[in-house]
Order: sequence, then structure tokens, then C-alpha cells
Amino acid sequence: MPVSEPKSKIRESEWIWKDGAFVPWEEAQVHLLSTAVQFGTSIFEGVRGYPTDEGLALFRLHDHLRRLVDSCRVYRMVPEHDLSSLVDACVQTVTRNRLNSCYLRPMVLRGYGAPGLHPFDSPIETWIAAFPWGTYLGEGALENGVDVCVSSWSRAAPNTYPMAAKAGGHYVNAQLMKMEAVTNGYADAIALGPEGRVSEGIGQNLFLVRDETLITPVLDGTSLAGITRHAVLQLADDLGIRVREQPVPRETLYMADELFFTGTAAEITPIRSVDRIQIGTGTMGPITKAIQDRFMDLVHGRIADPRGWRTLVPE
Ligand code: PMP
Repeated sequence: MPVSEPKSKIRESEWIWKDGAFVPWEEAQVHLLSTAVQFGTSIFEGVRGYPTDEGLALFRLHDHLRRLVDSCRVYRMVPEHDLSSLVDACVQTVTRNRLNSCYLRPMVLRGYGAPGLHPFDSPIETWIAAFPWGTYLGEGALENGVDVCVSSWSRAAPNTYPMAAKAGGHYVNAQLMKMEAVTNGYADAIALGPEGRVSEGIGQNLFLVRDETLITPVLDGTSLAGITRHAVLQLADDLGIRVREQPVPRETLYMADELFFTGTAAEITPIRSVDRIQIGTGTMGPITKAIQDRFMDLVHGRIADPRGWRTLVPE
């Protein structure tokens, strides 16, 4: 019998921002024949907000919205709101919903209008939702790690889908990977690029540790330039940990002393096995732990924020 993940339903909040006004959660609808629904042109972001002593802090909000606008540019669908208006709108969305921790989902999509594949006659709509979301890869994942496989599906070649842009349509590939992994009893999967080298996780980037050096695959046009990945590279530097970005052959995974995922949803999730081969001691390794602690201290406001990565939301 295939193993399936426990059912998880989105936890609703009250209000969703749409192009300058708030609509009730249940009224935030798009037409069936919107271009985004038919053909996948929904550009999106995921941002986490954490409780701190001074109130909720959104982590790297500006960087996420910059990536949103960059992704939109690739798809020729630049929103009518500039970056600073989007920042304000995100903050308002959290305040309006009275959330003290949240996941923010800004989206820019092609709405209803054009009948076919020439989308310019479909309007560009901007939406921002915020809702509570716990640990992405299940209870205990952050402490105990997860069991993953290498997916039998690959990422597409560069210059097919622009993977550095975060577009809904790209995630049909991700869903194939996730369904296969979960059906086979794994929490998640590692995606290989078209030439068989390690690309990233399904919705996360990946790091490995070998001989006290932190290694992550180069950004080669098959993966997303994760904002958490970037943060981890900086935090490792702060901690005096050696870091290398390099091409990663698949077999290197099984030889790693430690492995972990990074992402807004996944945060810093240790990986304890790949294809049922145990990684290191099968528990969170010391470098993963140091990075995870530093990351959690930073996002929860327990240490200084010299890079200005936290945006405090007024209560
Ligand atoms: N890769 C993919 C495919 C993703 O969807 C995500 C999540 N946004 C990541 C990596 C991690 O990116 P970030 O750290 O910016 O959330």
C-alpha cells in the first residue's frame, strides 16, 4: 500500500489584499478561464513572519518582493505596484489579519480575458494572502531530520523553463516529484538537473557537509536562487565555516557527513537518509545544528540583525 502524507489543509485567515483593497478570504476568486489557471502564469513568493519580542518580523521581505518583480519581468507581466507599495501591502495584510506568525503568499497572475496562448489581453492582478503555517516537512522534521529519495523525475534543462523565476507553472514538475516521494514513503525528494547532477530539493535548496566544508550546488539554470540559501551562505561566513558552491554529482550525496534543506517553508531541515542510505550518524550534525540555531535566533529576533533582514510589523 502506498504511504500517504497526513492530510493538511490551509489555515484560513480573514482578509486577502487585491490591488489596493482587502477582500474577504472566501471571496478571493479568479475565473476558471483565467490565463493563470489554464496555463500556469502565476508568479508567486513565500515569506515567513516570526514572532519576536518586538512583534512579528517578516524575514527578508524586500528580497522576496524583489525576486517577485524580477520573476514578473521574465514573464512580461510587471505589476502596477512598485516594490515599496508591495512591501507596504504585505505589512498591511499581516496587520489586518492580526497574525503573530505567518506565511505570506504574494502573487501576480494573468487573469481572465485572452482565449489562448497569447496572454497580453489578460489583465495582471496582484494578490497577497497571509496565513499561519507550521513546520513544512512535518512535526519533528527540524529536530530529527527527514528521509528523502532522489526523484526519478528531473528538472528541465536551462532555457526551457526560466527556473530562477518563481512561476506557478514550473511547479507541475515539483508536484510530480512530491507525489512520487510521498507515495513511496519519503518526506521529500532531491531533484537532479537534466545532466544528472544535483539541482535542489522540490521546493528548497540543498547543502551538504563534507570534512567540515559546507557545499551547495551552483546556480546552473535548473534551480531557484533561494533567499534562505543566500542567508545560510552569509551565516556560515559569520560562523567561520568554509563554504563552496560547486557542481554536485549524485553520488556525493550518499558520502556526505551532513545534508540539509534550506527554504522559507522548510527553514533549515536536516536530511537523515537518501534512498534509505543513512547520512552521517542519521541525526542532525554539528554544522547543520550551528546553522539552524543561528538562523532561528536571527528570524526570532534573539540576535542582532546587521543586514536589516527583519521587517517589523506594527501591532
Ligand atoms: N527552490 C525552489 C524550487 C523553491 O520553490 C524554493 C522556495 N521558494 C526554494 C528553492 C527556496 O527558496 P527560498 O529560500 O527563497 O524560500
